[in-house]
Formats: sequence, structure tokens, C-alpha cells
Amino acid sequence: MKLVSAKDMLEKAKAGHYAVGQFNINNLEWTKAILLTAQEMNSPVILGVSEGAGKYMAGYKTVVGMVNGMLECLNITVPVALHLDHGSYEGALACIEAGFSSIMFDGSHYPIAENIEKTKELVRMTREKGLSLEAEVGSIGGEEDGVVGMGECADPEECKMIADLGVTMLAAGIGNIHGKYPENWAGLSFETLAAVQEKTGKMPLVLHGGTGIPEDMIKKAIDLGVSKINVNTECQLSFAAATRKYIEEGKDLQGKGFDPRKLLAPGYEAIKATVKEKMELFGSVGKA
Ligand SMILES: [Zn+2]
Repeated sequence: MKLVSAKDMLEKAKAGHYAVGQFNINNLEWTKAILLTAQEMNSPVILGVSEGAGKYMAGYKTVVGMVNGMLECLNITVPVALHLDHGSYEGALACIEAGFSSIMFDGSHYPIAENIEKTKELVRMTREKGLSLEAEVGSIGGEEDGVVGMGECADPEECKMIADLGVTMLAAGIGNIHGKYPENWAGLSFETLAAVQEKTGKMPLVLHGGTGIPEDMIKKAIDLGVSKINVNTECQLSFAAATRKYIEEGKDLQGKGFDPRKLLAPGYEAIKATVKEKMELFGSVGKA
């Protein structure tokens, strides 16, 4: 199956009261693990690519080529969107050109008027090509590719202004942060989430920083209108832990244990397990 926009899968998720996971990719193992798990779970999936990861994987065209190749060679039939995560305006243009099926423009660091101007322009361009577009209001805390936010809560009025431009989905800061959550984290602001959804009507909402949010909060967020949840750090942590275990047990020193296909296998399996667990939690299993 060819890459699809995230629009239909998120509208279905919204109507069905579940969420689709966005799992960020970093290399071939990541991509293969996520695609095969989605296929096994019969779940729609969104592959996230940050600008940093795109650069690491030798450019957006390389990413598009790798993902399209896997869709064909691995016989992936579930809906898959390839999505630019926290894109700059220039990054968005480059990904539209390269063949991504979904774009996030993160204009949250601009004054609202400039965020609106640039988002408007991208609504026009993505519509022309049938791509989905995610916008962000209120910066999401933590650090992502060197951009540090403080975890503020979005202004519901500003969310409405951006939603009304015709974006497909909206990320609003509701106290969530990227990376590991600190011990003294105050939790998600469901008050903000409810207010944002009230102002934006049927707009699918996106929850960034899905790693480490307690399960009951995830479920409540889905109940209140979140239809896309981004997971990145959790796959990195499980991959690292499994790889560490393999090396600490000296398995790379036994036989041909140094073969990268063996060395990376436990990390690959760990990513699969994390993705499966998240799809079950988000309720997207069997919804392809
Ligand atoms: Zn994010």
C-alpha cells in the first residue's frame, strides 16, 4: 500500500474513541520494527521524522525511499503516514517535495500572527497534494532537536484561530513535555484540553511527549479528544536497554555475535514490544 495522509485514520480514530500512535524513526531497524508491528496488530500507524533524524538518515529523499521500499517489500497493507515532526517552514517545503504524506509545521515559537500566516500558506500547499497538516499552538516542554520549551498550556482562542485555517490536526500544549517526565511534574491539564476541544469542535488533537504519561491520563486524554499520540523517547529507552543487556552479557563476543544483524536484534525486538504495548493502550489494534 502507498503512503496515505493521516486525515482519514485520525477522523476514524476520533469517531471510534481511540488514538493512532506516531512513532519516530531513526534508522532502518526502527522503521522495520514499527511497520511490521503495525501490520501484525492490524493498526494504522504514523512514522514521525524530526528534522534532525531526517538529516541523520541522509536526507528526506532517503527516508521516503526507504519507507516506500519497505511498504512494498514487506507487504504492508495497513494505513501508514510518513510525517515530518516539528518541521520548520523550510523543512515542511522540503518534505512536501520529497514525498512525505503528512507534515507538522511547528510555528509555536512565532508570534501568533506569524504562525497563522505560515500555517495558512502550508494549508494551501498540503491540500493541493492531498497531504495532512499538523499545527502547534503553545510550545510543548522539554527539548527536541535543540528547541527547548517550558511546557506551557495553549490559549484555546489561539487554538481556534489556527484550527479554523483548515489544518488536519492540532497539537496544543497541555502541560506535556518531550523526553522523560520529571518527578515533580504536575500532570496533564485536562481543563486546557477540554477548553481547546470545545473551541476547535471536531479537530483531532495531538498529544506530544507520550513517554511516561500514566495510562489513566492517556485514556482520559483520548476521551477528551486526543486522536494522535507521539511516542519517541520510549522506543529509544527500550532499544538502548536491550542493546546494553546484550553487550553486558558478552554476547557480542560469542561466535559471530558481533554481526550487526545479531547485535541489533534485541533492540529491534524491544522496539516492537514497546510499539505493541502502545497500540494496545491507545486502542488502535484491529482498526486498520
Ligand atoms: Zn513533539
